[in-house]
Amino acid sequence: VLVIGAGVVGVVIFQALVEAGHRVTLVERHRVGLGTTAFSGGVVRCLHVDETLTERAVLGWRYYRDLCRAHRNAMTFHRTGVLYFPTAARVPWIRRQVARLAAMIPIEWLEPRVARTRFGQLLADCDEGVVWEPESGYVEPGEVVRGLILKGQAKGGRLLEGVEVRGVRWAGGRIVGVSTNTAPLDADLVIFATGPQTPGLLDAMAIDHDLDNRMVQVELRAPDGDTGDHPSYSDEAYGLNGRPDPASAGMYLGVRTDVAGASAVLPGPIDPQQSAIAIAAGSRRFSWVGASTTLGGVRSPECFAPDPHGRVCRLAGSAQLLLATGFNGAGFRMAPWASGEVVRLIETSEFATSGRAMA
Ligand SMILES: Cc1cc2nc3c(=O)[nH]c(=O)nc-3n(C[C@H](O)[C@H](O)[C@H](O)COP(=O)(O)OP(=O)(O)OC[C@H]3O[C@@H](n4cnc5c(N)ncnc54)[C@H](O)[C@@H]3O)c2cc1C
Repeated sequence: VLVIGAGVVGVVIFQALVEAGHRVTLVERHRVGLGTTAFSGGVVRCLHVDETLTERAVLGWRYYRDLCRAHRNAMTFHRTGVLYFPTAARVPWIRRQVARLAAMIPIEWLEPRVARTRFGQLLADCDEGVVWEPESGYVEPGEVVRGLILKGQAKGGRLLEGVEVRGVRWAGGRIVGVSTNTAPLDADLVIFATGPQTPGLLDAMAIDHDLDNRMVQVELRAPDGDTGDHPSYSDEAYGLNGRPDPASAGMYLGVRTDVAGASAVLPGPIDPQQSAIAIAAGSRRFSWVGASTTLGGVRSPECFAPDPHGRVCRLAGSAQLLLATGFNGAGFRMAPWASGEVVRLIETSEFATSGRAMA
């Protein structure tokens, strides 16, 4: 099996396939983890806008928690806790979800009065109440991808860096591998985990898709004063998300980006217009944002699909081509679900029965 792209999605898939007994090569045109993954906040939390995403996110939360427990010298799960602010209209649904999830994960609903008592020094507005996930938080993307690569290599997985896949090779009506900037590589199955390069790659191969790229920007703000143990957060009402950055004593502040940029494939400096939008929205939720100052930030392309469920599927044109991308800004926490889905797709395909893809 050939996995193209060593971002978090490709690396988690690589490790899962090696673990499942497949013979796997992971191919990366640059170095491991330097695509969109290098810009990720690594926030891992559970409650999402619908039950499907929540189920997948719970899987991701357990995965990173257990991974960090098992490799505590190399990786840390930073339990900042996560606040999830719903819109007023969704409060009844959200409260039902919290009641359902409370049997499975640490989660509780905080009435406005309780939220103000616990987090009042941080909040400008908490009129609707808020969901509290005390055991959620974030991981450092670099730690996780490096750790997983080592795990996969230790079990026989192969990594090739500096190798760019240029196209798929066919013989006798079947895919037999890929062409690259160096030697061709043989494979029975090819998985595109190519992040924001995916729309361009699929266009070049004349393969149908519904993917697009958007720039995601997250400010790093220095609060004027002590914000204590500020939790990570996600905000349906004002489109915000972020987490603390202990190294700088700053807080990340991201706001939903609605601007599509099909040609956006490279990261760059932060855009002042987008900063102004983030600060305006952030000031409505948090009392510290208005007087905060800039510590810079990050801006990177992310692969989007028209809905938030990601694209983990067979590609049109060949059962030997799989896709894993389009996570709309949540690819880090969705990667563990994606890897399980890829293993399932492979094991229910013709390759499993012929044994051709197995080691
Ligand atoms: C600023 C920001 C903050 C975010 N914060 C969070 C967060 O807190 N939590 C969360 O869950 N998600 C977050 N996300 C989303 C998450 O980071 C991404 O969904 C995820 O990192 C995407 O990983 P990937 O492996 O699909 O893509 P990438 O990391 O871009 O990896 C794709 C890799 O494929 C390689 N590649 C591409 N084409 C080829 C080729 N032809 N041959 C060989 N290699 C190739 C690239 O070089 C790259 O290394 C954030 C995103 C951004 C931009």
